[in-house]
Amino acid sequence: MIYLDHAATTPVPREVADAMYAVLTERFGNPSSQYPMGLDMKKQVEAWRGTVADALGCNARRLFFTSCGTEGDNWAIQAACWQNRHLGRHIVTTAVEHSAVLEACRWMEKQGYEVTYLAPDGKGDLTAEQVLDAVRPDTALVSVMMVNNELGNVYPIADIARGLAAKNPKTLLHTDAVQGFLKVPFTAKSSGADFITISGHKIGGPKGVGALYIGPRVRNPRPLLAGGGQESALRSGTEATAQLAGFAKAVELRTENLADKLTHMADIKAYAAEQLTAIPDCRLISDGTAPHILALSLVGWPSQNIVNDLGSRGICISAGSACHQGKPSHVVAALKLPKRVAGGVIRLSFGPETTRADIDACVRALREHHDARMPML
Ligand code: PLP
Repeated sequence: MIYLDHAATTPVPREVADAMYAVLTERFGNPSSQYPMGLDMKKQVEAWRGTVADALGCNARRLFFTSCGTEGDNWAIQAACWQNRHLGRHIVTTAVEHSAVLEACRWMEKQGYEVTYLAPDGKGDLTAEQVLDAVRPDTALVSVMMVNNELGNVYPIADIARGLAAKNPKTLLHTDAVQGFLKVPFTAKSSGADFITISGHKIGGPKGVGALYIGPRVRNPRPLLAGGGQESALRSGTEATAQLAGFAKAVELRTENLADKLTHMADIKAYAAEQLTAIPDCRLISDGTAPHILALSLVGWPSQNIVNDLGSRGICISAGSACHQGKPSHVVAALKLPKRVAGGVIRLSFGPETTRADIDACVRALREHHDARMPML
């Protein structure tokens, strides 16, 4: 199998699975238990928190484990709106956010909030000015993703943070960094965001674990889950210790020689772009600079047929966000591309393990698809 869908999820290295297995079978204590196995696990959870916080460049006190990126996005949006409920009921976000953010914003609309959804340009880019122009005195929250999961565009979070501080300092800033964490250089401080969402399964960790950074400007963050008081009473629920073990181990492995891994992914992306655009009718959709995501269109050939055909040959790529398989992607729709271009959009995404041979196999299969099938769009 050739796996070119690392933005959907990533393989778990053996060391990560081993770390999880040991916790599931031998070190299974509940961190709230008051005997040594529980007390040791409590210390261990703090050590894992430290590992993830170091990679995010933040104080461990400000990092809270969650069940996934989706939970982090929902929590951040609700907590920000709660803190600023007296400031106003306006949210600024983009039309190309992950549905975890979009649906959380739609839920806020049902609570009486007004949401501005900013459209990117035809290549998926957004400027800080565009975001800041939409901010009003009653804007409670700005939520802009760090890296677009379908296009690979990197958005100017630090510039937005600086502009907000000047224009409307009480407005809180959330960034969904699920595709940015350990892919593009940033720290919690350098981003300037008040909330940062990350997820384990995009970096070689297991599914079902993530974290939310909550910065110092957020006073008494409102919990999403009330209960037994875990995570400093801000996120109740018995700690998913095996997932945390896997998340921390994945972070540890990924941060080893991270610069080399990112350079490798960027090289693979450049090679893939060069080889694929040599196929007739194949063109790049965005100039996004994230090293692991490449969006292209085989203009005229329906993307779902491409995904199915390559899938049947053991090559895994995506027709857009994995959450939207089979339906037209809202991200591609926001680019307002001609129908034949939009209908042919595919996403390839890479990991440290991806090789040029993987790309060569994909290029061959795509060329064969192009030559053997008639355009339908
Ligand atoms: N945000 C972005 C940008 C994503 O790419 C994803 C996953 O595809 C999520 C949020 C959701 O993360 P999770 O799958 O951990 O809920």
